[in-house]
Amino acid sequence: MSAPVDRTVVWPFDEAGEPAAYFYARYAHPTGVAAEAALGALEGGDALLFASGMAAETAILLAFTESGTTVAVAEGCYYGTSTLVRALSKYGVKLIEFDQTGPPPAEAAIVWVESPANPTLSMPNWDAITSTDALIVCDATLATPVYLRALDKGADIVIHSATKYLTGHHDALLGVTVSRDPEKTAALQQARTLYGAAASADTAYSLLRGLDTLEARLRRQTETATELAARLAAHPAVATVRYPGFGGVVSFDVPNPRHVETSLPSIRNSTSLGGVSSSIESRHRWEGDRIPEGLLRMSVGLEDVELLWGDLKAALAN
Ligand code: PLP
Repeated sequence: MSAPVDRTVVWPFDEAGEPAAYFYARYAHPTGVAAEAALGALEGGDALLFASGMAAETAILLAFTESGTTVAVAEGCYYGTSTLVRALSKYGVKLIEFDQTGPPPAEAAIVWVESPANPTLSMPNWDAITSTDALIVCDATLATPVYLRALDKGADIVIHSATKYLTGHHDALLGVTVSRDPEKTAALQQARTLYGAAASADTAYSLLRGLDTLEARLRRQTETATELAARLAAHPAVATVRYPGFGGVVSFDVPNPRHVETSLPSIRNSTSLGGVSSSIESRHRWEGDRIPEGLLRMSVGLEDVELLWGDLKAALAN
């Protein structure tokens, strides 16, 4: 049974005139708390919902940086993350990008990895990363707890764009943090309340619904993506295929990305990833020269593998 969607924003104080568990929805609301409990159980920590993945990232940075803090962000990870840290340079926060397959820079107070990175699909070297005293943040959007419980690997805070696999249907903008440390959770909750980054009851409900099918979706997407990655790697028109061996995202390089991305009837030419319908896009349009010009990021949905391959094969032939 799903939890009901409770859109209440204001609750009366208790009989003694004090705020009870719920009093104003920017602090907490029952649908959000139910979704946080369900995701927290999967991750093995305390989850908090935010209005978007970027709102969750902002809360982490505002809660744990001050002027002079160095944040080391994995190269080739979601470009919004390094862009956000760079935007905080006006408050004295410093950005270093580093290769997450090796050790992080010693001066970093926060080390931000992504497993796997979007769209380069590199993976962090956990031994090297956990050998520092820095606060370790792991963006596990592409892995989900089906394939990675990053807190078990040594991350202090996990972040997800729940807009992607966790809700899974491209109908909810949502972010999540998870931590095992009550002080960190309290700091994140305070940032969420203060900066107004709370998620709505409706998007919290979308998370509850998405979690019911998360594992089934991810296993099926992995099966299809594994097959497509192998076929793409064997295709003469494809230069490089990146696939970490799990999950639904495959990225590959072609000489004519615009032609390929616009020639696939069963694969929508759109941004984002993690939905039940497949999508593909050239990332160069957003990220410029930090990634190869011909790189296409494909997010595999639940369609039949032969349907998807038929379209890819036809587009790659021209
Ligand atoms: N992290 C990753 C890996 C992403 O792909 C994205 C968005 O594409 C974000 C964070 C930001 O999430 P949102 O779009 O929900 O704000």
